[in-house]
Amino acid sequence: MGNVSQMPDAVTMDKIVSLCRRRGFVFPSSEIYGGLGSAYDYGHYGVLLKANVKARWLEAMVQERDDIVALDSAIILHPQVWEASGHVTGFTDPMVDCRTCKKRFRADHLEESRCERKPSKRPGEGPECDLTEARQFNLMFETRVGALEESGSKAYLRPETAQGIFINFKNVAQLARRKPPFGIAQIGKSFRNEITPGNFLFRTREFEQMEMEFFVPPDEAERWYRYWIEERRAWYIRYGISESHLRVREHGAEELSHYSSGTSDIEYLFPIGWSELEGIANRGDFDLRAHSEASGTKLEWVDADAGERYVPHVIEPAGGVDRALLAFLVDAYDEEVVAERERTVLRLHPQLAPVKAAVLPLIAKSAPMVERARMLYEELRRVVAVEYDDGGQIGRRYRRQDEIGTPFALTIDEQTLEDDTVTIRDRDSLAQERIALAKAREHLQDRLAQPWRSPKTG
Ligand code: ATP
Repeated sequence: MGNVSQMPDAVTMDKIVSLCRRRGFVFPSSEIYGGLGSAYDYGHYGVLLKANVKARWLEAMVQERDDIVALDSAIILHPQVWEASGHVTGFTDPMVDCRTCKKRFRADHLEESRCERKPSKRPGEGPECDLTEARQFNLMFETRVGALEESGSKAYLRPETAQGIFINFKNVAQLARRKPPFGIAQIGKSFRNEITPGNFLFRTREFEQMEMEFFVPPDEAERWYRYWIEERRAWYIRYGISESHLRVREHGAEELSHYSSGTSDIEYLFPIGWSELEGIANRGDFDLRAHSEASGTKLEWVDADAGERYVPHVIEPAGGVDRALLAFLVDAYDEEVVAERERTVLRLHPQLAPVKAAVLPLIAKSAPMVERARMLYEELRRVVAVEYDDGGQIGRRYRRQDEIGTPFALTIDEQTLEDDTVTIRDRDSLAQERIALAKAREHLQDRLAQPWRSPKTG
């Protein structure tokens, strides 16, 4: 295309929020009741996109490998799990209150926070700020199990999915007949009563995690730790994130959690700056030992034939579904001018795109075109997510699909009625090709399976 010009790199969080809202990816939750801060509901395209993010993760973790199995553990676990794991005493963030504006802040995030009264300053910097001493605040949501309000009924909503994996180590090692190195992967909701949620889907109190615990012989821990950092970074690149927008940041000794002998964050260049996308931790034998001691059930690897017995060490890649989805959206967002008209386009990897193809009759009033288009739509929907659209001018329909990231559009026109061919339009290059209607399904499936590179990465 001769007359396409890229707009300056213009993605902002506001633009992502507004696109998500406009096209029904994500809505603020409980809106008719005035909203609940930092809680979101996923609409149709958001659900499809999120399902694709999770499917690609499971594929990479489980389907494409021989050494990882899947798990779906309960959200409410025995409360002793959280005592043994250290969460009851240690899963805290330091918090300060401002006596003047009554706002609450993370004591370790003051630099990035803004004073309520003077947004150009950080909390504590303004003349009227009056901050309390930092206090530790436990992030776990408490609840009660059963009808009785007694102390024994106290339980927690899980703040991470990992503990559900550790307590199932024995079940899986025995039943799935796995020998270290092997992993257990789980996707599910986690809950944290964050002091300062915000930045759209980046930090919410209810979110989904994709976590995998990889159990290894102790002397292999360092090697597998390095391996998983690289493997996880490669997964984001495979699904379209520009390599230059990713970096690995290793935690300093002072930043390490009590259980960790090494942690690296894969950071993404969000519109709010470089921030954690996923953490990879070398947890040593902390978790299996802690649960063995507290439960009385030995969580160890025993191989009687080889005379081997040890507590495996654990390497954990822990990512967020919503945070990954946000990064994919930010990286895919593009604006350009085509033939003097602006278009917003989500250059999502075809394997992530909520809708893979749109089927469009050029003239909605033409009964033969509509009939052919409906037939093609019925054929394609059996194999991939497709959308039929006959509302409005063709240019506008293309733009609607561009905005939700649909990689291909198949248009039925006059020529289709004469020679049974359709055009297939490529979202990124805007190239249009004429193909046989009878081959459309095969052609689309081939195109979807081809390796894809974002045109934004050049
Ligand atoms: P942060 O430092 O951002 O609070 P964390 O280091 O506590 O994160 P982990 O416990 O390592 O996070 O959780 C693993 C992943 O889960 C994070 O990398 C992130 O993708 C996701 N995650 C954690 N907390 C939230 C949250 N409040 N909202 C959305 N995603 C989250």
